[in-house]
Amino acid sequence: MTEPIKGRCFCGAVRFQFSEAPVAVRACWCRDCQYLATGNASINAIFKTASLSLSGEVAEYVSTANSGNTMRRRFCPKCGTPLFSHSSSRHEVMVVRVGALEDREIGGPASYIWTASAPSWGHIDPELPNCAGQPGPVPLK
Ligand SMILES: [Zn+2]
Ligand SMILES: [Zn+2]
Repeated sequence: MTEPIKGRCFCGAVRFQFSEAPVAVRACWCRDCQYLATGNASINAIFKTASLSLSGEVAEYVSTANSGNTMRRRFCPKCGTPLFSHSSSRHEVMVVRVGALEDREIGGPASYIWTASAPSWGHIDPELPNCAGQPGPVPLK
């Protein structure tokens, strides 16, 4: 196993690490993510939930995603940095906002999802697989 993958919120009140590498990294152009990512797609690394260690308090916002799943989004209550989201459809994995990772180089997206809701100027890498809506579940390695 490699070094843990560390991250934190903008103000540093929340710190976390994962003991395993992400199972997938992708860019999401869903409408919800455009609010959270200030107009852009969000860049998300998907980690096994069991490999997380977390310190500091996180606040939570619960909503229904375009997919119909219940999403629990967790963020720093002090500085508001979006950190994690969990879908009701899949508890064994969690989505982590790549901007919060110390090493953002691991966050190069391997696919684009929800591309149908991207604005006309939204970047979608034509070399990478993309999905107009919600893709199938990420296979666990
Ligand atoms: Zn913070
Ligand atoms: Zn999204």
